[in-house]
Amino acid sequence: MKKLFISGMIALTLSACDSGQEVFHFDEMTYSPSETVFKLFAPADAQCFVVVGSDTLQMEQMADTIWIATAQGDRKGQTYQFLVNGLVSPGVFAKAVSVNGEKGVVIDLRESDPEGWESDQPVRKQPQDIVVYEMHHRDFSVNQPLAQHPGKFLALTEPWAINHLKELGITAVHILPSYDYGSVDETRLNEPQYNWGYDPVNYNVPEGGYSTDPYDPLCRIREFKQMVQKLHEAGIAVILDVVYNHTYDIEHSNFQRTYPDYYYRKTEDGKYSNGSGCGNETASEKPMMRLFMIESVKYWINEYHIDGFRFDLMGCHDIETMNQIRKAVDEIDPNIFIYGEGWSAGACALPNEQLGMKANISKMPRIAAFSDEIRDALRGPFSDDTKMGWLGLSSTSGCETDLGALKESLMYGIVGGIKHPQIDQSLVNYAKEAWASEPTQMMAYVSCHDDMCLVDRLKASIPGISEEELIRLDLLAQTAVFTSQGVPFMLSGEEMLRTKQGVHNSFESPDSINRLDWQNKERYPQVFNYYKNLISLRKNHPAFRWGEAEQVRQHLEFLPTSDATVAFLLKEHAADDDWADIIVVLNASDKPVVVDIPNGHYTVVCCDGQIDEQGLGEVSGNKVQVSKQSALIIHN
Ligand code: CA
Repeated sequence: MKKLFISGMIALTLSACDSGQEVFHFDEMTYSPSETVFKLFAPADAQCFVVVGSDTLQMEQMADTIWIATAQGDRKGQTYQFLVNGLVSPGVFAKAVSVNGEKGVVIDLRESDPEGWESDQPVRKQPQDIVVYEMHHRDFSVNQPLAQHPGKFLALTEPWAINHLKELGITAVHILPSYDYGSVDETRLNEPQYNWGYDPVNYNVPEGGYSTDPYDPLCRIREFKQMVQKLHEAGIAVILDVVYNHTYDIEHSNFQRTYPDYYYRKTEDGKYSNGSGCGNETASEKPMMRLFMIESVKYWINEYHIDGFRFDLMGCHDIETMNQIRKAVDEIDPNIFIYGEGWSAGACALPNEQLGMKANISKMPRIAAFSDEIRDALRGPFSDDTKMGWLGLSSTSGCETDLGALKESLMYGIVGGIKHPQIDQSLVNYAKEAWASEPTQMMAYVSCHDDMCLVDRLKASIPGISEEELIRLDLLAQTAVFTSQGVPFMLSGEEMLRTKQGVHNSFESPDSINRLDWQNKERYPQVFNYYKNLISLRKNHPAFRWGEAEQVRQHLEFLPTSDATVAFLLKEHAADDDWADIIVVLNASDKPVVVDIPNGHYTVVCCDGQIDEQGLGEVSGNKVQVSKQSALIIHN
C-alpha cells in the first residue's frame, strides 16, 4: 500500500495489484454472495459506521479519508446506511435505494437487466446529426389515453409513444431529471404531485416516482433500462439532464452528511456560495467532487447506456472538470453528446474565467451550450414575458427600437454561434464575440421547459394575436431553429401547439398546466406535419448541418434584405446532397416581401406554412416573393 496525493488536501490509498493500481471509484457498496464491501469518503477524524440489515459495523480507515467495512455473508436485499459522526445517509453513490432514497440497498445489478439488455445498442451520432426533444415523463404521457403507464418510465416503451417520436423524426430524447430527486414523495404517488426534479437526492439511481413500484429497489432500475432499450430499438438516443451543480439544501444532502463542507463552495467570508440560485453550489474543482461527477457520468453510460448529457447550470462547474468529463466520456465513445447551460443563476465563488460559461466554450472543445442569442432574438428576453423579439416586429409590443440587433442576433444563431464574415458581432445581443468554435457547440432553440412555451409567449407578447398568426409565427420560429447550423433542440409538445396556460416557471404546477394535450395533434395537423417535414428536411440535406465552422463560413451566405427578413444561401451542395443551392428566407413582416436571389430556376419545398421535399411549385428569375410571417425554402 502506498499513498498518492491527488492534491495537497486529499490523500487516497492505492493498493498495488498485478494489473496495476486500484483506485477509489466511489465504490461504496460492492456485493458478492460471500461478502459485501462498503467504502466511504469521509473525514480522517470521523467516527464511521455502516448499518447493514440489523448489523452495525465500525468502518476502518483504509487511508486518511477512505473508510472500509466488510459485511460477511450474503447481504443481497438488505438495506444499508452510513453513519458519519452520527449523521445518517445512504452515502453519495448509492446504486439502489429504498423508497424515497433514504437507505442504500445491497443488490446484484445484473438482476436489474431486462431481457436482451446485453445486446442493447446505444444510439450515438455526430452532433450535427442530432435533433433533441426535451421532455418530462409526466408531461408527455399523463394525459395520453393510450398510455398503460402514464407518467412512468415505461410509458416510453409503449407503441403510441415510440410511434409519435419516430413519426416526428427527432433523434434524441432529453429527459428532464430522472435520477432520484426529493420533491415528490414516493410513498404518496396516488396523490397529485408534480415537480421537474431539480433537487437531486441520489444522483446515481433512477427516480422512484417514475417507476411502478418505488418500494422495490430493482424495479426503478429495470424499468429505466427497459425505457432506454425500447428507445434504442427505435433508433432514438437518450440524453440525461444532470444537476451536479447544487443540492436541494446542504443540511440534508448526502454530500454534507458524509463529508461536511467538502463538496460545497464558500465565499471569502465563509458563507455558502449560491451560484445555483438554489441556496448552494457544489465545488467541481475539488478533486473528489470532480471525481464524483466523472464517475457518475461514466456509471450512467456503462450501466444505463446513456447517449448524452445536458449539464444544468454548467456555468457553475469549472472548465477543467468539464474537459476531464469530456475526456473520460471520449474514452468510452466520442459520439456521446455533451451540452449544458452556459450560465449560472448567481455569482459563483470561482472567477467567471474558470467556469463553464458560454463565453468560455472555445476552451471546452466538443461541449455545446444553449444559445440565448437565437432564443431571445426570436421571441424576446427571458426576464420579460410581455416583450417580443424579431418574430413580433409587426406588433405594438415588438422591437422597433433595435430590430437590426435582433436580426443580427438571429443570424448569429443561424450560423451556429461561430464567427462569420457577414455578421457584425458588435450588434449581436449578449455575445460581442462569437463564442462557439464549431457550430455543433451551439444549441439552437426557441423554447425549453424553463420558460413559457412558444404559444404562450406569442400570446403574452402579442396581445390579441389570432390563431392564424400564432401558427404562422410558431412555424417561422422553428424554421429558424431547424435550419440553424447549431444543434436543434425543441420542447416536447411544441409540435402540437403546446400551452402551459401562460405559466412561465411551471416546475411544480399541476399536471393540468404541464401535460401535453394530445388532441391537438388531430386538431392542428398542419402544425404537426410542418414540424415533421422540417425535421425531415434537415435530416435529408447535409447542407443544413455542415458541422464545421470553416464549412459554414464557406457555404452559408446571407442575402441582402431589410431587417424584417433574413435570407441565406447554402451554396455548393454538401456531400450526398442532390440539391445544388438552397435558399432559406425567413420573413417576420406582416406583409409579403420580395427578396433578390441569384438568377436561376428553383423548386419550392417550403412556403406558406407547408413543406414538401418533392416540391410545392417552381420559381424562376432573380427575385422571389415571400408571404407574410412565413418561411420560404427553395433549391435548384
Ligand atoms: Ca425520489
